[in-house]
Amino acid sequence: MLRKDLTSLNTGPTFRIGVLGGGQLGRMMIQTAIDLDMRVEVMDPSHEAPCRSLTHRFIQGDLNDSDAVYDFGKDLDVITIEIEHVSVEGLRRLEASGVRVIPKPNHIALIQDKGLQKQFFAKHKIPTADFTLIDEGGCLTGMGFPVVQKLRVGGYDGKGVQILKSESDIDQKRFSEASVLEQAVDIDKELGVIVARNSAGATAIYPIVESIFDPNANLVSSLFAPAQIDDSLTQKAKDLALNVVEAMDFVGLMAVELFLSKTGDLFVNEIAPRTHNSGHHTIESNQTSQFAQHLRVVADLPLGNVSKLHEVAGMINLLGAADAFGAPVYERLQEAIDMSGVHPHLYGKSQVKPFRKMGHVTVTGSNHEEVHNKVLKLLEILSVTGTQEG
Ligand code: ADP
Repeated sequence: MLRKDLTSLNTGPTFRIGVLGGGQLGRMMIQTAIDLDMRVEVMDPSHEAPCRSLTHRFIQGDLNDSDAVYDFGKDLDVITIEIEHVSVEGLRRLEASGVRVIPKPNHIALIQDKGLQKQFFAKHKIPTADFTLIDEGGCLTGMGFPVVQKLRVGGYDGKGVQILKSESDIDQKRFSEASVLEQAVDIDKELGVIVARNSAGATAIYPIVESIFDPNANLVSSLFAPAQIDDSLTQKAKDLALNVVEAMDFVGLMAVELFLSKTGDLFVNEIAPRTHNSGHHTIESNQTSQFAQHLRVVADLPLGNVSKLHEVAGMINLLGAADAFGAPVYERLQEAIDMSGVHPHLYGKSQVKPFRKMGHVTVTGSNHEEVHNKVLKLLEILSVTGTQEG
């Protein structure tokens, strides 16, 4: 229940939404919020956060500081996140004082720790790669290489993840850190499912996404939706994502990352309780984008229609070049802008760094081949260099 007696739409100056995190995800949320006259206020540690100049109120503060989170949110109607590394204690205090918190603090706590996430999957019989927890006495015995070591807390974008091919890859110092040891999956495809669930328990699932990784950056270089998998796998992937949000009684937008193994099995890799890089194309390609859907759940509105507006969508991330520093230079962007069905999004970051996410480009089209060819062309021509070289 919301605190105030509100009009039929939770919008306008009397309805205050706070977002923890002011990066590109928050920025795209604000772009959408403007359409419904939703007022978004933001806290982020960086004075250069991409949201700073777009928000009604910007507070520079430590997202992991319980007092800072509490002070930022105490007069708001609702608070949400665009990054999960935030003070759960601060959010619990806000909830106790009557602020609506989406997603729930307990869910953020679960997702902050990859070990707890894996235990949750195991408890609810959600298929996931076999694992053990080093800091809870787990060891390699019986696992067989390759094995993946993941820090339980604090990793993102592949940082904190290491593939151990043999005994000699074990770094004793890292091996002593609290981590998950996971059986490596022989991956055929990496898939993503974005699912929204509101406080009434209604759900909406976006078309499945297939991600292609850049082996150097270990970041998604391109993705396509719908994934090229058959109907029965599509249904299985959707059912799995639904199982996850229902088992949690989750309220919010959830990105469920899946591995499809070469033997045709699906495993949940991890989940993110927020808008996600694998849903950026929904801005152009679906009736309701992931950002609009997230805001609907936050403002307790009915879920939006997720039908496709285009048969196929593709997306590439614009990552900083391996030696790029200084102010960003978007090489050959004009050519991309001139292509039909191509929509660049720049995040307004003042400094480029190697592999930093500086923007993305969405491609929409009527068939997979057309979209795939445009994506390949964009990957070939676009790069983000900097005014200084490293
Ligand atoms: P992060 O949260 O930092 O993105 P992930 O858990 O998603 O970390 O892992 C990053 C990447 O590492 C995955 O997208 C996948 O390519 C690879 N990876 C992770 N776990 C496994 C696994 N069990 N088997 C094979 N590859 C894996």
